[in-house]
Amino acid sequence: MATDYYEILEVSREATDSEIKKAFYKKARQLHPDVNKAADAEEKFKELNEAYDVLSDSNKRAQYDRFGRVSGGAGGGYSYVDIGDLFGGGFGMGDLFSTFFGGASANRAAVRREGRDMGVGLRLTLEEVATGVKKDIVYDRLAPCETCKGSGLGEGGSFVQCERCNGTGRVVTVQHTFLGDMQTQTVCDVCGGTGKTINIPCPDCDGQGRLPDRQHISIDVPHGIRDGQQLRLKGYGEAGIHGATAGDLIVTVRVDQHARLKREGDNIHTRVDISITQADLGSTLFIDGIMPAEKVEVRIPSGCQNDQMVRVRNKGLPVFKKENRGDLFVHVTVIVPRSLTKRQQELLEELAEEFGDNVAGKKSVTQRIKEVLS
Ligand SMILES: [Zn+2]
Ligand SMILES: [Zn+2]
Repeated sequence: MATDYYEILEVSREATDSEIKKAFYKKARQLHPDVNKAADAEEKFKELNEAYDVLSDSNKRAQYDRFGRVSGGAGGGYSYVDIGDLFGGGFGMGDLFSTFFGGASANRAAVRREGRDMGVGLRLTLEEVATGVKKDIVYDRLAPCETCKGSGLGEGGSFVQCERCNGTGRVVTVQHTFLGDMQTQTVCDVCGGTGKTINIPCPDCDGQGRLPDRQHISIDVPHGIRDGQQLRLKGYGEAGIHGATAGDLIVTVRVDQHARLKREGDNIHTRVDISITQADLGSTLFIDGIMPAEKVEVRIPSGCQNDQMVRVRNKGLPVFKKENRGDLFVHVTVIVPRSLTKRQQELLEELAEEFGDNVAGKKSVTQRIKEVLS
């Protein structure tokens, strides 16, 4: 049974993007597990997210309209942060909504007005690290509400003194206990401690000045970046309440392992196989470097031993934000041939004789006679 995403969001199949966003926003407020205590609220909330994930993305929506499902999407779980989810980083729906709805706990502190920092992950290949790369990031955040330009004010609205706390931002509650009446001061639950409320709130964001929105940004990752290094994008995090300072977006870089090359800081290690003659006589090899189409000349010295390391200067990774490069370390494996042609066998036997080595390969007289007769 395919789930009907339009039914879940209670919109028509012709709904516009902004209608879908509005419907999601409205339903999310009703179903958020912090607010809705029904047993199936969490399940419904997940369904709602999945529906929004598909219908808010024009590609996924088109696919869903045509085939009734989204490949790899539905059933595969809702991915809130496209890139961050790859390694479980990023942030969850919970964080986003608990700050947006202010949470449901009675004893909360004054509502934080500045937007929070947000985190996403970004996977890079070693080749991308070598050249530096432009990357697109898609993430959801509380963005400034376009209708009210982040102020939270509806048409003709303004900030007025909070009636509940008379503008103090605090309310005093009295508890009757056996020790007598106890007074406790708490943050005003109406104005969140600001002492002000909006008389006509913006209908789209309900006076918050910010709304969940999908962001598409493109970032320039400089070359030489390290695994685990973070890039901070100022103001790209969560928008603040009523236009207060936005948080930052912190992009944490993860560099994938390379099949052939191993990174060690700005240096790169690799391994090459050479023959016994190349090892003994020396050789010049050309191997693939880390830069696009790069061929690196590796000079194997004569008498090169198995596991010996040959250093090629300035052929490692470009140093972060600098022009110079680290070094390439080539670890040599000398391959002893497992089977020989007749000629190779003869030459090796001759060589063994020259070295005065006692070898097993020498053929017996009867063997030689057999070979002549055959
Ligand atoms: Zn608004
Ligand atoms: Zn108040």
